[in-house]
Amino acid sequence: MRMGRAAGVTDTGRRRLRNEDAFICEPPLFAVADGMGGARAGEIAARLAAAALEEAGSETRGAEGVEALIVEANRRIWERSLADPETAGMGTTVTAALVDAAQGNVAIGHVGDSRAYLLRNGVLEQLTTDHSLVAELVQSGVLTPEEAERHPQRSAITRALGTEPTVEVEVLTIAPEPGDLFLLCSDGLPTMVSDDEIAAALQAAERAPAAAAEALVARANARGGEDNVTVVLFELVEGETTEEEEQLEEVEPVEQDSGSDPGRGQTPEADTSEADVHRHGAGPGGRMAALLLVAAIVVIGALALFWGISR
Ligand code: CA
Repeated sequence: MRMGRAAGVTDTGRRRLRNEDAFICEPPLFAVADGMGGARAGEIAARLAAAALEEAGSETRGAEGVEALIVEANRRIWERSLADPETAGMGTTVTAALVDAAQGNVAIGHVGDSRAYLLRNGVLEQLTTDHSLVAELVQSGVLTPEEAERHPQRSAITRALGTEPTVEVEVLTIAPEPGDLFLLCSDGLPTMVSDDEIAAALQAAERAPAAAAEALVARANARGGEDNVTVVLFELVEGETTEEEEQLEEVEPVEQDSGSDPGRGQTPEADTSEADVHRHGAGPGGRMAALLLVAAIVVIGALALFWGISR
């Protein structure tokens, strides 16, 4: 088995002024990051995450390798946010996939609600579980998946990269089969386009990554394009990895931009007591609303229980 074609597309969408998403499409490494924070902070967080991941070398392999890359990205964003008051509180999601075609594994690490999907034999499967408020409410049976899709707090995430000094990365490893098509995307895709439509669009584009990525972004925009949308697609195909491709795996380290040099000034109000719910493109209001929702659910649950007992 070997890497086949790959493509990545990002778009600001129809409603947002800036694109706070970033992506990497550098076989064997692929990633999507969806930044959040005031002013340009979300953009900076997503770019810092991408830059840290791009430093992966040929020795970076498997689930441990992906996890180490994401932990390092977290450290850099966190330190930058301490050094630069304008970026305080910034964060980003990240979903990264590292392919080891020779060993036959695809390691995926993620934090937040950017997703990884796999199209195999015409069936689209969501590989990652969102670290989001609504995903947790679905898991605990409070919301149905359909209710979650329409929920006003659906973009509130419970885990983010760079908002705390440490991060818990969820990792999984897939044994790929020839013909597998992997999709990484920011939430701007699934909030606008259903999984069935995503699968249909991939098939309609005859699984060609570049055409399919364009088609998915166009579809999200046709539906309103309420958020930035990023799509990365890569396929695995029959055959041996050639020597040339092996060399491709030596990803050159990428210099961070000169503006990202962290100063050594006093740490501004680094708020480590922040609740672990973050919201893309929204301020503390969204966070507070998410917390109030959780509190309301707890209160309603307690009342229901009390009512049940007292009858
Ligand atoms: Ca987003």
